[in-house]
Amino acid sequence: MKKAIPVCEPLLEGRELEYVTDAVKSGWISSAGSYVPAFEKKFAEYCDAKYGVAVCNGTVALHLALAALGIGKGDEVIIPSFTMIATAFAICYTGALPVFVDAEARTWNIDVRRIEAKITKRTKAIIPVHIFGNPCDMGALRDIAQKNDIHIVEDAAEAHGALFDGSKVGSFSSIAAFSFFANKNVTTGEGGMVVTSSEALYEKCRYFKNLCFPLDKPRVYDHADIGFNYRMSNLHAAIGLAQTERADYYKAKRIKNGELYKKLLSGIDGISVQKDQERGSNVHWMNGILVSREAYGRSREELVAFLKEEGIDTRLFFIGMHAQVSLKRYGCDCDGDYPVTEELSKKGFYLPSGSGLEEDDIGRICDLIRSFAVRAA
Ligand SMILES: *Cc1c(COP(=O)(O)O)cnc(C)c1O
Repeated sequence: MKKAIPVCEPLLEGRELEYVTDAVKSGWISSAGSYVPAFEKKFAEYCDAKYGVAVCNGTVALHLALAALGIGKGDEVIIPSFTMIATAFAICYTGALPVFVDAEARTWNIDVRRIEAKITKRTKAIIPVHIFGNPCDMGALRDIAQKNDIHIVEDAAEAHGALFDGSKVGSFSSIAAFSFFANKNVTTGEGGMVVTSSEALYEKCRYFKNLCFPLDKPRVYDHADIGFNYRMSNLHAAIGLAQTERADYYKAKRIKNGELYKKLLSGIDGISVQKDQERGSNVHWMNGILVSREAYGRSREELVAFLKEEGIDTRLFFIGMHAQVSLKRYGCDCDGDYPVTEELSKKGFYLPSGSGLEEDDIGRICDLIRSFAVRAA
């Protein structure tokens, strides 16, 4: 029997079970338990930020961040066209309009040279997404944001612990959002967090997250604004605390996976990988490859099917935001050209990338990819 290799499996080998058991025994399973603030503190520290606000997933973390900044109807928010749909939907929840910028061919991140052409007087924020764990050019983004007086909201859902110029992602923007979905580098199964170093934004996030109960009188049913129930349970936070204690271990494992893939896939005609941000560290949430049919001799679909037969699970890349019917119907301008995103969506898929992968697994996957190429006669 060939060994089946999933795209990603969570590793829960730290104190997860101990903390969850403790939470259950204590009877505190709601968001009022003590693991929630402990996890918030620990994870914010890990991001070099002052405050963390735990929520029930990464999508609502993005929405909460935008709501705290007061973004709403009539505003525009710039995002990469190559991202996961949650980045765009979170903007739609506020009533604002997502505006797309193509990806950059080397790093697969938002092409910073194309941002200013999309800024209008309605633009309130840019959401850079550190795609697959590769940090965006935060230096250039900061310059653009400062010059145009707009906010940066990092979508760091894929990049726990990644660095740019030696600083952690999540610490570059007024406010940043993380996801702890089961396949993310740090996980709670389902979960998310907003991190910020602004006390005012921190207070707003706590307020909106809990149905706008007055912060100073949490048990008084007096609501001056429309809020959301985005609370995280104590059970999820218990897992999150244990995960954060080992965050650097997971990060090191993912980086090791990425480096090995890069090495073993080099020199295969028609197969290319993401180029790391030069001023940062890519934490390789996922290791994607692009298949150029001409040079490789096989299509992406043929390679994916071949790997599947060998028990190796993969996922196709995101489809661009400009190609999403939901966003077109919502009113987004989807008419521009997004050649890099188109190419990534057409040629890309990602390989197994979990923190628990073994070197032999990666060796086998890369051997299979190499052997499946059709060599020019
Ligand atoms: C995973 C992810 C999210 C959303 O996270 P959920 O916890 O699944 O809601 C948002 N943005 C990006 C880029 C992601 O990869």
